[in-house]
Amino acid sequence: MNVRVGLKRLGLKSLREYYKTPHWAALVREMRKKRCDRCGRACGRLALHHKTYLRLGAEAPEDLETLGDPCHRAEHGLPPRRGRGRKKGR
Ligand SMILES: [Zn+2]
Ligand SMILES: [Zn+2]
Repeated sequence: MNVRVGLKRLGLKSLREYYKTPHWAALVREMRKKRCDRCGRACGRLALHHKTYLRLGAEAPEDLETLGDPCHRAEHGLPPRRGRGRKKGR
């Protein structure tokens, strides 16, 4: 499933635009009440991770994971962040 198809359906050009929609903001608000799905702790700044973009704009709960920064980076195969930078990321 290509993310482009989902974006096109929503009339958006990029995921960046998608992440500015009220729909996404509401999901993020809910997410902030939770903890990391991977380790069950508040392991870092939380992010919503898409397991699939199949239902972009109308995600089912199982399409998303709440992941702390370290677990989210691991999910994407990225090395742990160095230092104590507080930069934005996903
Ligand atoms: Zn975690
Ligand atoms: Zn992710």
